[in-house]
Amino acid sequence: MKIAFISDVHANVEALQVVLADIDKQHIDRIHFLGDAVGYGSEPNACVELIAANCDIKLLGNHDYAALGLESTAAFNDVARVSIEWTLKELSARSTTALADFEMEAVDGDFYMTHASPRTPELWEYVLNIDTARDQFEHFDQQVALVGHSHLPAFFCKRSDDTISQRYVSESELDPDSKYIVNVGSVGQPRDHDPRACYVTVDTDTNIIRYHRVEYDISKAIARIESQGLPQILGERLLVGR
Ligand code: ZN
Repeated sequence: MKIAFISDVHANVEALQVVLADIDKQHIDRIHFLGDAVGYGSEPNACVELIAANCDIKLLGNHDYAALGLESTAAFNDVARVSIEWTLKELSARSTTALADFEMEAVDGDFYMTHASPRTPELWEYVLNIDTARDQFEHFDQQVALVGHSHLPAFFCKRSDDTISQRYVSESELDPDSKYIVNVGSVGQPRDHDPRACYVTVDTDTNIIRYHRVEYDISKAIARIESQGLPQILGERLLVGR
């Protein structure tokens, strides 16, 4: 069975459409979404609709949570706050109802999923390096935890001798005696200096996990952001992937 994991779409419908078309070519059995459908980008309703229609498991991210009015935007930076306030006004009743059905964490076989961290999904912690990953391994029973949130692809491995390593590999075979935390990167706002949309697939027959990068029409996404009067930086950062 092949599963695709996508995250951090951030209302970028151009990137999401291209990623879904790319997934479609690969005979994927299930698509799981790891949170942040909205925020930053200009097409929250279209993105919520596409995610609800195409994804099996659908998780909430911190931006979705704030866009549902479940959390104050006090912890957000200025640009994020402006975009969430815009999103709150823009979201249709239908999108809000669909988003309210998204979950905080989920399990599919050997895979645990949450937006930010297995330890405290509702605190939106960042798992960025070996130090911040170390404690997280005790907080899921499955072999692999898949997360988003930082928009930075990352691959942490804890071996049976308790050593933890971090590396970025485009493809790897999962060792049955190791545990993993995999950040699947971002579809709609990559921050690893590669502007292409990012997602992950796992083949449960071969145990191969793979990152995919897909080009999309960034200029179109920027034009939409500008036409909505959203902060210019939200378009500019898409070009440089950070
Ligand atoms: Zn995000």
